[in-house]
Amino acid sequence: MSNAPRPTVYIETYGCQMNVADSELMYGTLAAQGYDAVESPDGADVILVNTCAIRDHAEQRVIGRLGELRRHMKADTIVGVTGCMAQRLGPRLLEKARHVSLVVGPDGYRALPQLLDGARNGERGIFTTFDLEEHYEDVTPRRTDPVKAWIPVQRGCDYRCTYCIVPHTRGPERSRKLDDVVREVRQVVETGTTEIVLLGQTVNSYNDGTHDFADLLRAVGAVDGVRRLRYTSPHPNDFTPRVIAAHAEVGAVCEHMHLPMQSGSTRVLKRMLRRYTREEFLACVATLRTVMPSLVLTTDIIVGFPGETDEDFEETVSAVVEAGFSDAFTFKFSPREGTPATRLPAEDTVPDDVAGERLQRLIQVVRAQSREQNLALLGTRTEVLIERLARDGELLMGRTRDWKTVLVPGDASLVNTYHMVELTGTTGSTFTGAFVKDERASRQPLPMAG
Ligand code: SF4
Repeated sequence: MSNAPRPTVYIETYGCQMNVADSELMYGTLAAQGYDAVESPDGADVILVNTCAIRDHAEQRVIGRLGELRRHMKADTIVGVTGCMAQRLGPRLLEKARHVSLVVGPDGYRALPQLLDGARNGERGIFTTFDLEEHYEDVTPRRTDPVKAWIPVQRGCDYRCTYCIVPHTRGPERSRKLDDVVREVRQVVETGTTEIVLLGQTVNSYNDGTHDFADLLRAVGAVDGVRRLRYTSPHPNDFTPRVIAAHAEVGAVCEHMHLPMQSGSTRVLKRMLRRYTREEFLACVATLRTVMPSLVLTTDIIVGFPGETDEDFEETVSAVVEAGFSDAFTFKFSPREGTPATRLPAEDTVPDDVAGERLQRLIQVVRAQSREQNLALLGTRTEVLIERLARDGELLMGRTRDWKTVLVPGDASLVNTYHMVELTGTTGSTFTGAFVKDERASRQPLPMAG
């Protein structure tokens, strides 16, 4: 029995929930090889930066951070870059950062132990091959969220939106077997987690060859102990009547959906190759709202896409109002090397100041709409799941089933517990609330357990 101290690993995660889940997989892969996870890079034996490539800004941040991490390194610390930026840049990353020893794409995490052994012998390792069979089924992720479990059900994407780097960094779409997903959900529930978030680039296009996303929602929703079931991100085109019915009928599925629209102009949507028109997107929203009247929708929107005119932008603003989004992630178009959008005529480029003005205007429209919707909820009672201490450390931060953020007084012992809360105030986006003794919610029925 060796007395050598167990090696330590620190992973810093950037980007989407899929990257959060991948970091949990990497911790799990290395834990199986005797590594201990640490919360700080200081003196860690291994530092991994799990990266995002969705916008240039995200990559510039990582390059800056890699420089900063030098001061946390010991003489024999191994630094690696993983994720979408690693996949996109590959060997170029080794040139950009001399202290980086590993560059590993999203399908290469199983090879981490060997690559780390090689690095200890002075080798600089690269793994950027796509592996269409890889779902890390035999790896036990080290979960990092005390309340919810991120469960990837699909990897890659078969759409080809012209601005998007994801198909180039995560490869073609492939779905896990339904039984494997359900088994993982059971394992997670046994640890006391009751909120499940199913992950995929276009998660509702899930299909394992026998089961579609409707089957998956029903199977996961039927697991005893699953109290809240969420999924992200769906694509409007993959909302079949079966999937919509499953969302509406499975008690655990929450009354919130994050449905990326990207633009409200059919002309721009065509240039983005989103494969739906403005009318088709709004018709999808109308169908969802007919079947689920209390559904809360949030979205993603890009402004300043090449060729976007003032009229196109006005169509985006009016679509936001017509869809009744309660919030939106809004971005200026960021050209990504290797994506078709970068090959659009230069004269179509929207000047940065114009894109900036449109972004500010859109943020105001979304905020005003969100505020109006939230003010109307004051005085109502709803179920809140306490997620963590709020940043100020005084209050607790919790979420409703329809994705509202609520701050309530209390201590950390309440994390991962459900409470009826009356909404007493709002900043327009975040609520303050008070615990109520009366367990009957005034807005939503309590879901049946399992
Ligand atoms: S659906 Fe489009 S935007 Fe979403 S990951 Fe796939 S290519 Fe990218």
